[in-house]
Amino acid sequence: MRLASTAALEGMPLSNRSGTGDESGLLRDAAERAIAYRATIGERQVGPAEGSLARLQQALGGPLPEQPSDPTAVIAALDRFGSPATVASTGGRFFGFVIGGSLPSTVAANWLATAWDQNTCLLAAAPATTLIEQIALEWLIEVLDLPRAAGGAFVTGCQMANFTALAAARHTLLARLGWDVEARGLFGAPPLPVIVGEDAHSTIFKALALLGLGRDRVLRVPIDAEGRMRADALPDIDGPAIVCMQAGNVNSGAFDPAGEIVAWARARNAWVHVDGAFGLWARAAARRAHLARGCEGADSWATDAHKWLNVPYDCGVALVRDPATLKGVMGTQAAYLQESPVREAMNYTPELSRRARGVEVWAALRTLGREGVAELVERCCRHAARFAQGLREAGVEVLNEVTLNQVLVSFGDDARTRRVVERIQADGTCWCSGTQWRGRAAMRISVSSHATTEADVEASLAAMLRIAAAT
Ligand SMILES: *Cc1c(COP(=O)(O)O)cnc(C)c1O
Repeated sequence: MRLASTAALEGMPLSNRSGTGDESGLLRDAAERAIAYRATIGERQVGPAEGSLARLQQALGGPLPEQPSDPTAVIAALDRFGSPATVASTGGRFFGFVIGGSLPSTVAANWLATAWDQNTCLLAAAPATTLIEQIALEWLIEVLDLPRAAGGAFVTGCQMANFTALAAARHTLLARLGWDVEARGLFGAPPLPVIVGEDAHSTIFKALALLGLGRDRVLRVPIDAEGRMRADALPDIDGPAIVCMQAGNVNSGAFDPAGEIVAWARARNAWVHVDGAFGLWARAAARRAHLARGCEGADSWATDAHKWLNVPYDCGVALVRDPATLKGVMGTQAAYLQESPVREAMNYTPELSRRARGVEVWAALRTLGREGVAELVERCCRHAARFAQGLREAGVEVLNEVTLNQVLVSFGDDARTRRVVERIQADGTCWCSGTQWRGRAAMRISVSSHATTEADVEASLAAMLRIAAAT
């Protein structure tokens, strides 16, 4: 095993053999490999190359090496065996899940910030990135048109953003009932009802489980045909409660009726949390903003920058109307952690040590500007509408109202739909994932990358129809 993997390393063309001492040669080589990867992404099949996973296992696995290796050879092996086994989600024809691409400026900013290697937990350890994250957070709040006094935290993704925001909700509501949950835990605490829509995202349930609020003790509100919570079916409760609404159903892209939910909550002292991983970005585009109208009245919001803002993985954002509620739960004190008067990230995030995720957000917002963000969101929505139109014209059933970037498609019975999805993935022109929608198998098309062009959409549409016709 060890011999095989050593041989694989030796056979490799090395653009630079300057050895372990030459850091700049190594970094330049890696940058060139990365540039070549991205430059050719549109020419390769979207899924991993045939046999590439087995080759990766063989070449990069085996026993833990006893001896050091030349870093340039290590990076060459990573490129040779890693790159072909990736999915081309940075390209223009990947429509799986809701992944989003990565803007060139954000990849470049990521490289620089990685080179800085700043532990962005507090100003003393990371002055530049602490300040850049503060700016990025303020710009995000502005571009999403949320209350300007809101605060928040950069976390790994919307899963942790839901967790972080709901921790602030738990802290605040139990404090109102005279219970210090951070000090005393949940044993003996007053009950805290949690209300979710029937089609809430799986990450809401995991967040509730992590917070001791329970996956299964939630009150589930019935939904309509698009997966929207029915405001007329909200439970008749009084007193502190958390209601988790959704801006952008992960399948249909539909929005819970925020205005009605917020009004209902205000009358009952409830905390409204919005899971808006991608849907909240509708607020950044004038023609889509009406979809998420009313969300500004919520108490907390969770969203992603690695989805629609197209920054590299990973980057989510937790936002709260009153920053003190988040600090109440995430505040960190230790004699050796020297605090300053600025916003210290460690007081708002679940993590202590962390990378500077906000730097890429700053780079995205600075390069795109408000108009560029609006245009990115709008363009993805237009592409989704074109997919829906092209499929419908060819007699293919579109299952959802396509108002945002999500299209749900059936190719007939469930078995046929699943077969078409498999064949589309294997064909490699584009990549879509499967799902289950209202009891039926469906294909999901999620358009969330700046890299997708009209030509990508037409080529993908043609491939879908060709494959469907032959299945
Ligand atoms: C993607 C998504 C999440 C989870 O976000 P991660 O960034 O994967 O943690 C949560 N809610 C919705 C609606 C999503 O689409």
